[in-house]
Amino acid sequence: MIQYEAVIGLEIHAQLLTDTKIFCGCSTGFGSEPNTQTCPVCTGMPGVLPVMNRKAVEYVVRTGLALNCDISSLSRFARKNYFYPDLPKGYQISQFEFPLCEGGHVEINGNGTIKKIGLTRIHLEEDAGKNIHEGSANSSFVDLNRAGVPLMEIVSEPDISTAKEAVDFVKKLRTTVRYIDVCDGNMEQGSLRCDANVSVRPEGAEEFGVKTEIKNMNSFRFIEKALDYEIKRQIKVLQEGGRIVQETRLWNAEKGITESMRSKEEAHDYRYFPDPDLVPIEFDVSWTDGIRANMTELPDVKKERFMNEWDIAEQDAELLASERSTAEWFEETVKMGGDPKSACNWMKGDFMKLLNEENIQIDESRIKPRDLVDMLALIDKGTISGKIAKTVFEEMYKTGKKAGIIVEEKGLVQISDASGLESIIDDLLAKNADAVNKFKAGENKLMGFFVGQVMKETKGKANPGMVNELLRKKLG
Ligand code: ADP
Ligand code: ZN
Ligand code: MG
Repeated sequence: MIQYEAVIGLEIHAQLLTDTKIFCGCSTGFGSEPNTQTCPVCTGMPGVLPVMNRKAVEYVVRTGLALNCDISSLSRFARKNYFYPDLPKGYQISQFEFPLCEGGHVEINGNGTIKKIGLTRIHLEEDAGKNIHEGSANSSFVDLNRAGVPLMEIVSEPDISTAKEAVDFVKKLRTTVRYIDVCDGNMEQGSLRCDANVSVRPEGAEEFGVKTEIKNMNSFRFIEKALDYEIKRQIKVLQEGGRIVQETRLWNAEKGITESMRSKEEAHDYRYFPDPDLVPIEFDVSWTDGIRANMTELPDVKKERFMNEWDIAEQDAELLASERSTAEWFEETVKMGGDPKSACNWMKGDFMKLLNEENIQIDESRIKPRDLVDMLALIDKGTISGKIAKTVFEEMYKTGKKAGIIVEEKGLVQISDASGLESIIDDLLAKNADAVNKFKAGENKLMGFFVGQVMKETKGKANPGMVNELLRKKLG
């Protein structure tokens, strides 16, 4: 049977983090009462004129620089004409022949091999409003709060071959736009949306197959499932002698399938033409250079640095670098004298677990880098054992108290006083004469039992090294 391979290209819409809309002064805030953030411009009243938001252009340029694109010093807005109730003007202001950014690429890491996914373009456009069909049996509503919110559309080349690669690509983009502060990446609220173009072809074939476009995937899990489903569906159609129809399909999360929504429109259907109300965007290189100079360190660079300077394992470095707030928290801890590897272990283990449970970011936590550094010092000095530190850490997380205070209040100081431990051990050995005899007869694994008993007796506070040493002396 013929083997097929998939070809995928993604179109990502990312809402820009400007305070105001792209062509008017209305707020872009999420979650307000419907139609409270509108004005004559974004509701498409006759006679109004749009005024471009400079920040929005800057954010797209910043993204283009972070993604290795060519920045066009001359670009232009175009009208994309279509009718829909959430689009009061009857056209969307977008960019067509002259986008802000062209080319570029994103690197994804698939089991240690780096793959470059090419970018076609990044352009700037306005969002539409939202139709609401709930709340009344015989009418629908339109909320225009989102109309005119600035979006950038990032279009990839058809370089993606699997659902997993597609997810990695979107994750990498999300991390990047969050790092450079141009988009909050919130997929649930729709600040980052992904459409996927998919086709299949016989393995090794030159030509692309007919593609479908899948919309409505608002989580990584859905992207992966929808693409897996669609690839299998297309292969099955071809194997059964059918043909793929070029169309737009919707991901139905409940049924776990993609469904046909409408036949695909072509660019000429939109009657694009340059927007006569807006002048072309023109800037010189010094402006772009300024944006480049102020760019924060990007995730891949941080990851490499964590590996090379602090000997952090690749997977851990990737995890620490995946959120800017996490990476900076880690850097701060190390700068204050925390051992990088210990800090990394605490962060990726206990800390992230607690943060995930509460679903908050590290910089919203009560524990600050200083607190972890102080706790690590208590372990180093032998004041607390690594095991007790887990209790201390959890308490610090819950209350925001300093490690030293918790240790004092809860009486958690490690027992390293030999005579105190000796009497506990003597008692134990006296009570367990049987086990002592067995041990002496060669049952070495009973050592664990004795250590465990001492720990139980001292509520985990005994210095484990000292317990081992004393036991060996007494049993030897
Ligand atoms: P359209 O004209 O239908 O909008 P474009 O050529 O503009 O198509 O491409 C839109 C997206 O679809 C891009 O991300 C591109 O990489 C991807 N794409 C184009 N052709 C294919 C194909 N045959 N299979 C999968 N993806 C494709
Ligand atoms: Zn407005
Ligand atoms: Mg197109």
